[in-house]
Amino acid sequence: MSVAALSAGDDGLDRPRDFVAAFARLLEEASDETDILSRGGGLLADLVAHDDWLPASHAAPHVARYSQYLLHRDPCDRFSVVSFVWGPGQTTPVHNHGVWGLVGVLRGAELSDRFELDGDGLRWLGQERIEAGHVDAVSPIIGDIHRVANALPDAVSISIHVYGADIGKVERHIFEPDGTRRAFISGYEDAPSLDLDPS
Ligand code: FE
Repeated sequence: MSVAALSAGDDGLDRPRDFVAAFARLLEEASDETDILSRGGGLLADLVAHDDWLPASHAAPHVARYSQYLLHRDPCDRFSVVSFVWGPGQTTPVHNHGVWGLVGVLRGAELSDRFELDGDGLRWLGQERIEAGHVDAVSPIIGDIHRVANALPDAVSISIHVYGADIGKVERHIFEPDGTRRAFISGYEDAPSLDLDPS
């Protein structure tokens, strides 16, 4: 088949394309953040229930650090969708987001440690193991500070993240144990852009 004959449905991206379309519709209808996290979490759970759609170009681990690949940026920056690829032993620093976020595990498993800031610095709230097919949520309202790690010592794990902005433009913070914070803006790996735009 020639490239010109390819059309939506032939490139294996129907699942993420349908997800992006449904999420854009949800943001037009949703009444508040609770609604977005609840219904959006359901959409993301449906997406990560099937591990048959993420292109290899957006699933490749890096030997020295975890990788973030942009899958979709809403034309109005209302949301972005990113694949996080974790090699064995890889972990984020303790960080926040500044906007709502949903994390759905597509492959493997992740450990999520939650924190809050109090007068003495960072206080650890607990750890959760998130298995493939399950979804976690963060936001400045429900709790925004965490550290995420690959739960598997000998295999790659992958999660799909949805944020309430282009997360590559949001200034946020990394926290030291004493509560000291350092501003950062996360970037994306070099990868071909996927056309998931429903319009
Ligand atoms: Fe995070």
